[in-house]
Amino acid sequence: MLRITGGKVHDPANGIDGVVQDVCIADGRIVSSVEGGRTIDATGLLVFPGGVDIHTHVAGAALNFARGLTPENFRRALPFTHTADLRTGLGGITPTTFATGYLYAGMGWTTVNEAAVPILSARHTHEELHDTPIVDKACLVLMGNNEIVLDLIEAGELERAKQVVAWLVWAAKAYGVKAVNPGGVVAWKWGKNASVLAEPVEGYAKVTPARIISSLAGIIDELGLPHPLHLHANNLGVPGNVSTTLETMKVLEGRRAHLAHLQFHSYGGDGWGSMRSEAATVAEHFNAHKNLTTDAGAILFGDALTVTADGPWQHLLHELTGRKWGNVDVENETGCGIVPYTYKGSSLVNAVQWAVGLELMLLIDDPWRVFLTTDHPNGGCFWRYPELIRLLMSADHRRECLSKLPAKVLKRILLPDLDREYTLSEIAVVTSAGPARALGLPQKGHLGVGADADVALYEESPEDGLTFAHPRYVVKGGQVVLEEGQIRAVSRGRQFVARPSFDEGIEEYLRPLFQKVYTMSFDNYPVDLERIAGAELRACK
Ligand SMILES: [Zn+2]
Repeated sequence: MLRITGGKVHDPANGIDGVVQDVCIADGRIVSSVEGGRTIDATGLLVFPGGVDIHTHVAGAALNFARGLTPENFRRALPFTHTADLRTGLGGITPTTFATGYLYAGMGWTTVNEAAVPILSARHTHEELHDTPIVDKACLVLMGNNEIVLDLIEAGELERAKQVVAWLVWAAKAYGVKAVNPGGVVAWKWGKNASVLAEPVEGYAKVTPARIISSLAGIIDELGLPHPLHLHANNLGVPGNVSTTLETMKVLEGRRAHLAHLQFHSYGGDGWGSMRSEAATVAEHFNAHKNLTTDAGAILFGDALTVTADGPWQHLLHELTGRKWGNVDVENETGCGIVPYTYKGSSLVNAVQWAVGLELMLLIDDPWRVFLTTDHPNGGCFWRYPELIRLLMSADHRRECLSKLPAKVLKRILLPDLDREYTLSEIAVVTSAGPARALGLPQKGHLGVGADADVALYEESPEDGLTFAHPRYVVKGGQVVLEEGQIRAVSRGRQFVARPSFDEGIEEYLRPLFQKVYTMSFDNYPVDLERIAGAELRACK
């Protein structure tokens, strides 16, 4: 039992905005009162619900490959003392599994969603998630280039496609469905991409990116998965991609969807030399499409590592930058490209990207629909989120950063004209309450009775200005996991798994196809529920 007393509570889901009140905890949950147990004096501290990362890349074959490809990224030591309870790990841009859990929890973030799991390597992802301590986890399986699903869309067999999607989600023990560059990744094995939403994908007559998007969004709505289609749209990173992004929103009308890392999809211009921000256009359309949520995918200047199933884009990035490149192929169906990248303030393109991420967060009017991410490790590391929060909360700080950018960039961005400053409660919305709601996790993102007792306590005005960098205490599932800057307890964390219903007969359809196209035997493929520590099944409607 635990009582947190005297702190200023920011719990926007329950309408509490900086009120000094007690938070009581028993058996891992928030309760209305407790007798006895430990009391934490939180006088002068901010009390926030634990952070929820709706889009991050922390586990699986791609991350493991990224770690292997970039040993130079691991020199950064962990800020935690290695004790008998703590496993060792390496920090840096893609921290190793144990370190990932410690670093997220050490920042007050207690739930993470691994956003890209290739169907055929789900087992490996679960092994790494199993080794990622403290935080609760969910993962999304990649479906936008799955040939079995695409062939069914081509044949107009959407009911059967729905059964296949449901079976695959359950077999992979995923929480939801992600589509990356729909049609583009599958076309890339022919050296092609899919940049026009209405044009047939290479090898198909009727399958277009638009059709993949609308079919998958519809299927997921019908299956009632807790989280809607999670979409990495076509033409990521390309100047002028604003038109694709607006068209994508149109295709999604009438359906729920989450648009991932919107920053990478909000550019104007017709080439690198003329690239400019189109954040205002994108935000205006997004504001009008209440069926959508999004995350920023903001970038921060400095070293990053781009890791994405968008194979064609990654190869182009390698050619543009001359940096090393690797591609994990997953049975010629999907894969993951890895390219180290350094965002520089002196680069016009990078300066525009930096501004666009912030502009979107400042121009989208409903904080319940736009969430804080850097598409870790693509736009910056998750452990740099506190820097991003500071930029959102202080227009002066933004001006100071803007003054260091090349003057030429000012004509291509809107940021100098944006005075909005996020309030503490809005920060609690974009880092916790909003993403929890969008993920369909009612026990996360708030401090009401019955919620999981995931709580972070911060100093309001630390000397370095980074309020959210060093929590004084972090409570996860009712246990004090961080105190005085050190991890004090290590729990395993739960994993959320969706259980959509499907007709068992679909296995008879899938078995011969699986045997024909994949190296893995159908019967060996599904991930056993018993292998997932702390699995919590989520019913679908
Ligand atoms: Zn991503």
